[in-house]
Amino acid sequence: MLKDKQIFDIIEREHQRQKKGIELIASENFVSDQVMQAMGSCLTNKYAEGYPGHRYYGGCEVVDESENIAIERLKQLFGAEWANVQPHSGAQANMAVFMSVLKPGDKFMGLNLSHGGHLSHGSPVNFSGLVFQPIEYNVTPDTNLVDYDQLEETARRERPKLIVGGASAYSREWDYARIRRIADEVGAIFMFDMAHPAGLIAAGLLDNPVKYAHIVTTTTHKTLRGPRGGVIMMGKDFDNPFGKKTPKGEIRKMSSLLDSAVFPGVQGGPLEHVIAAKAVAFGEALQPEFKEYQKQVQKNARVLAQALIDMGYNIVSGGTDNHCILVDLRTKFPELTGKVAEKALVAADITANKNMVPFDSRSPFQTSGIRLGTPAITTRGAKEELMGEIAEMIDTVLRSPADDAVIAAVRAKVNKTMESYPMFAY
Ligand SMILES: *Cc1c(COP(=O)(O)O)cnc(C)c1O
Repeated sequence: MLKDKQIFDIIEREHQRQKKGIELIASENFVSDQVMQAMGSCLTNKYAEGYPGHRYYGGCEVVDESENIAIERLKQLFGAEWANVQPHSGAQANMAVFMSVLKPGDKFMGLNLSHGGHLSHGSPVNFSGLVFQPIEYNVTPDTNLVDYDQLEETARRERPKLIVGGASAYSREWDYARIRRIADEVGAIFMFDMAHPAGLIAAGLLDNPVKYAHIVTTTTHKTLRGPRGGVIMMGKDFDNPFGKKTPKGEIRKMSSLLDSAVFPGVQGGPLEHVIAAKAVAFGEALQPEFKEYQKQVQKNARVLAQALIDMGYNIVSGGTDNHCILVDLRTKFPELTGKVAEKALVAADITANKNMVPFDSRSPFQTSGIRLGTPAITTRGAKEELMGEIAEMIDTVLRSPADDAVIAAVRAKVNKTMESYPMFAY
C-alpha cells in the first residue's frame, strides 16, 4: 500500500487531466511507458559526479554504461561528433555553453524574446541577461521571419562573442548557413538551441543545425519526446578551431571546456535515471516509427494552421514549417487578449498558452497571441482529420470566452473525443 495517499491522489488527478484534455502546448509531449519506467527507476539513488570512466564516486560502472549509450545514440541521431547528456534542463545546457565561451559582461546576440526568443537567450531576469550583455535581433514586421540582414548589420557593428539561434515560438525553418557565415566573419561562436524542433530535425524533416553551428543545445522533452532534460552537442567543428585559454593559461579543447562547464560549473551530480530515460528516448527516435510520428506532427500542424486561416485567424508568418503555430488574435478578435483566450480554452480542457506575437501591442501578462503545437496530440494518435474539429472547437470557445454553457459543451465534446485516443497505461 502506498502511504502517501495525498501526493499519489494528486498524481492520479494529473494523469486524468492529461488523459481527458486536448493538449496543444507546443513544448509538451507524452513519453512512452519505457521512458517513464527508466525515469522512475533505482538509478535515481546513484551519485555519479564526473563522467563515465572518471567519476568522483565508487560503484558507477553500471550507470557508466547507460550514460555512454545515451551519448552514442544521441550522436548517431544528429550526426554529432561529441555530446554531453548531463544538463538537467535546456536552460542549464545553455548556461554551460555561455560559461564556456563568454566571460561576465561579454556581448552575445539572441532573438528578441517578444519575437519568439527564449528567456535563456538574454532575458533581463535570467542569468543570460544578468551576467552577460545581450543584443537582440528581430523578425521583420512584414514577413515575421528572422531579419538576417539586421542580424548581420548588428553583428558587424557590435562584434558579439556568441550568436545564439533558436526560439520558443517560431514556426519557420532557419537559415543556419547564413548565421554561420556571419559568425565566422565577426569571429563569434554560433550556438543553435533547437529545443523546440529537435524531434523533427532528428527525423530529417527540417535541416540539421549540427551541420552548421559550432555548438548545438536542445531540451529532450519537447518534440524529441524524451524525459525532461537538456543536452549539448558539437558537429564538424569538434574541438576545432577554437581551443580556448583557461584562467591558468592552458589551451583546452572546447569539449572539455563544455564538460567542465556542465559539471562542476553549473551542476553537481547528474540525474542518472533521467540519463537512462534519455537513452531510451534516443533509441525510440532512431526507429522508423519515429519518423512517421514526426511527419504526422508536421502534417497536423499544417492542417490545423490552414483550418484556422480559413476561419479568419491570422497565423504569424502565414503558416508553419514545424510543429508550432502562433496565432495573432488581434485580426479576428481585436478585444480578446491571449490571457483571456488561454483561460477560456483551459476551461474547455483544451490546453494552450498565451504568447506574445511580434510587435505586440499588449504586455507579456496579457499578450495578443496564443501558441499551439501538435506534438502531444499526435502522440495520442491524432491524424489530420481531427485538426479541423479542433480548430472548430477553439473557434467556438474564442467566440464566447465568457459563456459558461458554451465552454461546458465544448469540454464535454473534448472529453468524449479523447476517450478514443489512448495515453500511456502506467
Ligand atoms: C524550452 C526551451 C528551453 C528551456 O528548456 P527548460 O528545460 O525549460 O530549461 C531553452 N531554449 C528554448 C529555445 C526553449 O524553447
